[in-house]
Amino acid sequence: MSIETISLSGRKKVVSNKEMTFWERLYLVAIVKGLWITLQHLFKRKVTIHYPEQVRERSVVYRGQHMLKRDEQGRENCTACGLCALSCPAEAITMKAEERKPDEKHLYREEKYASIYEINMLRCIFCGLCEEACPKDAIYLTISKELVPSNYDREDFIFGKDRLVMPLEMAMKNAQLKNAN
Ligand code: SF4
Ligand code: SF4
Repeated sequence: MSIETISLSGRKKVVSNKEMTFWERLYLVAIVKGLWITLQHLFKRKVTIHYPEQVRERSVVYRGQHMLKRDEQGRENCTACGLCALSCPAEAITMKAEERKPDEKHLYREEKYASIYEINMLRCIFCGLCEEACPKDAIYLTISKELVPSNYDREDFIFGKDRLVMPLEMAMKNAQLKNAN
């Protein structure tokens, strides 16, 4: 069997290079055909939406935007172990670990913390594996209806600690609710 006739996928098509007819050379039939297809689509139900002005209805189990948790005392849970980064199939997470100083005990729960923690939202596929891998209950995907906000610059999709760490007021409110129960 010659190399030309072998087709691994079985979908190989032999392209003929035959001469075009007069009508084919006019391209009129092709243009009319294309316009007819466009016209048909004008009256079909639209499958696209005008994001971000329009937002699609999400499932109740939807989990989006990440958050780095604080404990009841407002200290960051993350200990920069790197397990979330290792488990991320999209390699979207990077971080830099630092050792906690004695006067920083009120800021970080563990002796080691992430001085830099970044998620590239252009890579993230919201699979939740980072949350699964975290041994410190530090990162989780929120129920927030908001997806990653649209933007024009790639740099704006690299979310740092300023956009990921849970606001202090939220941590305090959670602690109050926990104490009340
Ligand atoms: S949700 Fe998935 S893809 Fe996104 S940062 Fe976490 S592990 Fe990576
Ligand atoms: S978020 Fe969790 S898994 Fe990721 S570095 Fe921090 S403690 Fe480790």
